[in-house]
Amino acid sequence: MRYSGLRVITEGLRGNTGWTQAWRDPAPKPTYDAIIIGGGGHGLATAFYLAKNHGLTNIAVLEKSHIGSGNIGRNTTIVRANYFLPGNSEFYSHSMKLWEGMEAELNYNVMHSQRGLINLFHSDGQRDAFVRRGNAMINQGDDAILLDREGVREHLPYLDFEQTRFPIYGGLYHPRGGSARHDAVAWGYARGADQRGVDLIQNCEVTGIDIENGVVRGVQTTRGAIRAKKVGIIVAGRSSQVAAMAGMRLPIESHVLQAFVTEGLKPVINHVVSFGMGHFYISQSDKGGLVFGGDLDFYASYASRGNLPMVEHVMEAGMTLMPMIGRAKVLRSWGGIMDMTPDGSPIIDKTHIDGLFIDCGWNYGGFKAVPASGWCMAHLMATGESHEVARKFRLDRFATGHLLDEEGTGSQHNLH
Ligand SMILES: Cc1cc2nc3c(=O)[nH]c(=O)nc-3n(C[C@H](O)[C@H](O)[C@H](O)COP(=O)(O)OP(=O)(O)OC[C@H]3O[C@@H](n4cnc5c(N)ncnc54)[C@H](O)[C@@H]3O)c2cc1C
Repeated sequence: MRYSGLRVITEGLRGNTGWTQAWRDPAPKPTYDAIIIGGGGHGLATAFYLAKNHGLTNIAVLEKSHIGSGNIGRNTTIVRANYFLPGNSEFYSHSMKLWEGMEAELNYNVMHSQRGLINLFHSDGQRDAFVRRGNAMINQGDDAILLDREGVREHLPYLDFEQTRFPIYGGLYHPRGGSARHDAVAWGYARGADQRGVDLIQNCEVTGIDIENGVVRGVQTTRGAIRAKKVGIIVAGRSSQVAAMAGMRLPIESHVLQAFVTEGLKPVINHVVSFGMGHFYISQSDKGGLVFGGDLDFYASYASRGNLPMVEHVMEAGMTLMPMIGRAKVLRSWGGIMDMTPDGSPIIDKTHIDGLFIDCGWNYGGFKAVPASGWCMAHLMATGESHEVARKFRLDRFATGHLLDEEGTGSQHNLH
């Protein structure tokens, strides 16, 4: 079924009786050409591009819970291409282009909104760093505009510019940045993959990886053994646990990140605003809720909920930056498990086991990476070669020292 405005109107008149299921619910087959472990954004996009770009359709995505139950449905939905280092720059630039064509490609409304992102700076040194970053973005073909304090005031008049701890000096404006509806991205890729013949198997947890003489043979699951010549591990916060099934110890720590949403308000914040010095960022959802978050909780955990000290820290930072939000009521908070690498950049690579591939280490920024990660992981699994925009996301860089450390801050996760 093709979705369109006309279809919405027709179905509305017919009492919405004509909609069909968005994807099938198949039982697992005993053998596939390729298996993707993890039905999050990255796993589903990989399956979609394996089918669409490489004609590989005898594929299964194995998801231990339901589609959209992981971080793809828990993030704060910021999409941007404002990276500095070669390796990251071209990858996120490629991802932004895929975002811009995503709704047409998937025939799905993911509510992608390029409302602009402003990163605030609060010192001369920070401004210089943002000038360098902005130049790198422009050289990459993306957009960046340096705003002085009055320039920021024109866009964001409601900020407290004179706060004594971090007075606002200006901001780096990224007009193509914005947000999207997170779970619609999962649903859109799921539907697109299913339409091309991919089996999406929910409630199917992978419990073991079968390896013979250094070659992957398939997986063990809660719904039986499934054989495949190629297996991709794409499980975000659970990467260390699933890689351990193949005897691998990854350079990943799993940490909790929280987010918050207020009651619905009339439109008041029409950009994404990032206040790095205070560890706070915010945007307004299409339903009107102010969606905001801060930093990691700073302890390794597999719990999808956070602790109160970080709640207090985020609220304080929000009140410092825009005291007006003190009047809004917070409705909900939640957490997700972040797969943190020591340099803050991801991994898309082969492993030492023939036929076993891994895509992980998305830290707190993997939502915007979903399309390019799927594109590049599919390329790697289909051809055996890294895609040119993901060639620096090597697993062995932590041993060779070729790190991709955007902030130059070393392995401290809060400083990435
Ligand atoms: C609060 C919060 C805010 C965030 N904000 C942003 C943001 O604004 N912008 C941005 O770019 N990124 C953001 N992120 C990060 C982003 O959400 C993640 O990096 C990204 O979603 C991770 O990839 P994924 O979608 O594939 O993960 P997931 O959706 O977690 O997918 C992994 C899947 O693997 C499944 N799985 C795990 N183990 C197994 C197993 N053994 N067998 C089968 N299946 C298994 C899980 O159930 C899960 O569904 C945020 C994250 C959080 C938590």
